[in-house]
Amino acid sequence: MPEHDVLVIGAGLAGQRAALAAAEQGVTVGIISKIHPVRSHSNAAQGGINAALNPDDSWESHAFDTVKGSDYLGDQNAIEIMCREAPDEILHLEHLGVTFHRNDQGLLGTRAFGGASAARTYYVADITGQAILHVLYEQMLKYSDSIDRYEEWFTVDITTDDDGRCSGAIMRNIRDGSLEVFKAKTVILATGGSGQIYKPTTNALVCTADGQAMAYRAGASLMDMEMIQYHPTTLLGNGLLITEGARGEGAHLYNALGERFMEKDAPNKMELASRDVVSRAEQTEINEGRGFPDGSVHLDVTVVPKKRIHEALREIVMVGRDFAGIDITKEPIPVKPGQHYIMGGVKTDVDGQTDIPGLYAAGEVACVSVHGGNRLGANSLLDTLIFGKRSGVHAAAVAKQRNMPDVSASRLDQVRDEIDERINREPGTGRRVSDVKAELGAIMDAKVAVYRDEAGLQEALEVVRRLKEEAKTATIDDKGTVFNQDVLGSIELGYMVDIAETIVLGAIERKESRGAQFRTDFPERNDEEWLKHIDIKLKDGEPTIEYSPVTITQWQPQARTY
Ligand SMILES: Cc1cc2nc3c(=O)[nH]c(=O)nc-3n(C[C@H](O)[C@H](O)[C@H](O)COP(=O)(O)OP(=O)(O)OC[C@H]3O[C@@H](n4cnc5c(N)ncnc54)[C@H](O)[C@@H]3O)c2cc1C
Repeated sequence: MPEHDVLVIGAGLAGQRAALAAAEQGVTVGIISKIHPVRSHSNAAQGGINAALNPDDSWESHAFDTVKGSDYLGDQNAIEIMCREAPDEILHLEHLGVTFHRNDQGLLGTRAFGGASAARTYYVADITGQAILHVLYEQMLKYSDSIDRYEEWFTVDITTDDDGRCSGAIMRNIRDGSLEVFKAKTVILATGGSGQIYKPTTNALVCTADGQAMAYRAGASLMDMEMIQYHPTTLLGNGLLITEGARGEGAHLYNALGERFMEKDAPNKMELASRDVVSRAEQTEINEGRGFPDGSVHLDVTVVPKKRIHEALREIVMVGRDFAGIDITKEPIPVKPGQHYIMGGVKTDVDGQTDIPGLYAAGEVACVSVHGGNRLGANSLLDTLIFGKRSGVHAAAVAKQRNMPDVSASRLDQVRDEIDERINREPGTGRRVSDVKAELGAIMDAKVAVYRDEAGLQEALEVVRRLKEEAKTATIDDKGTVFNQDVLGSIELGYMVDIAETIVLGAIERKESRGAQFRTDFPERNDEEWLKHIDIKLKDGEPTIEYSPVTITQWQPQARTY
């Protein structure tokens, strides 16, 4: 039975940063990933990472932009920490070897991003996530004496002891299907987001809400789950992301009448207003018949000098060529708003502690909350690193003061039986896992998207609850043990339907419009009644709703215009 002082579940940026921070404190660390760590979804991050590093910028300005971007739902104590610690983290990454872009003077160069009052996004062309992930992985190899890596292991469940303290997790070795209990004094969840609940999404196939569901089932609170970000520029047809960096480089959005429609909704920031504002503007153009017949608006990158496109947006050139058959240096890109990010997640404090003792969460799985109702572009990579590091340091300090907990072997037997039951379901006795997942994605994209209303949300709730039942009997084809991705898909579907229910419940509960939640039946922000977080917790097997206050330090809510 593997034992570690600190067990990190997930090896994207949050997990790797947490593992390194814990190892630096002199504890033993185990880090687990269901795919090879450098293939984690952080790899897909294109545009960059924010920090107020220029002498004429300030962390306060970054923090205010983030608070305003969050539509005042972000917790300002957490936002202050993130923005204050950001410059040192960028320099740290640079010193480790991340090849951030340098300008003509040889200094670290920035690009503009949405909702920001200064150009403060540091980047490596449009492969920023990949560049950072590879450098952190190299660092983990350096720590191989104290960090054990479990690559292609799948976490099925987290365990708690008789006192309700997190004691480890149950893992399936994907290579041979064997199950193991991993004991740990503290556990950090860094399993990323849940975009696969929607179809289409910019998120990878592995973003299936695993950590959120495991924490929720173990009794942790989820917070702000209704806040789902639709990114303004996803490629029509397949939902692939066209980075906000394109608009940061100067690209324009047009409707079918040739109008730069952002003039109406954000006359000052235009295409660089925050994402919820731009997505709503696009959706309005499309809904009111000013979009193109294929249901898109156009992103025109041709206004950016060709040399600069090839230097700073080379991935997007390839996406245009390979997935849309267009040369983006010559033709506009058909785009629409598409599901991209979940602002909500496992509720934590600023050290990553959840409300289960010994269990931490960091990165997209978590909700600190620094993004509130709407995340600013390039603030997520920052969130993963700052709160990954803080979780690692705190979890290591707590682990040093504890003995190794006991984990009952009976839970392992129970999990083995549950997995065998999934594998042994006879084809034809239930719906296929892939069919249930497809219906889930479609209903969420239809009714829990940019615009929402009571009738649509109630319809979504009914469908999600039916799918939750159908997931219990859904069947798969692969009966084997070696790389049985089919059975993992079945377990992931269970995670996704549970979390989809919390997203819909949160959206029904919040009877106002704030950030990414726009209710056509409650179109105004209502600070008097709704300047509060919605927390969802399982009690006696049923989701229950509680509220918690938003922490305000120095920025009182104001009208939000761009
Ligand atoms: C296309 C795209 C572009 C983006 N660009 C930017 C950008 O430019 N700037 C920015 O700030 N943000 C960007 N984002 C958002 C940002 O990339 C993510 O929010 C962030 O990388 C999430 O990191 P993470 O470490 O929390 O999770 P991930 O990188 O998703 O890592 C999750 C890890 O958990 C593991 N895991 C999950 N479930 C299990 C399980 N059951 N068992 C074992 N392991 C498990 C996975 O294998 C993986 O290692 C972008 C997002 C997308 C989709």
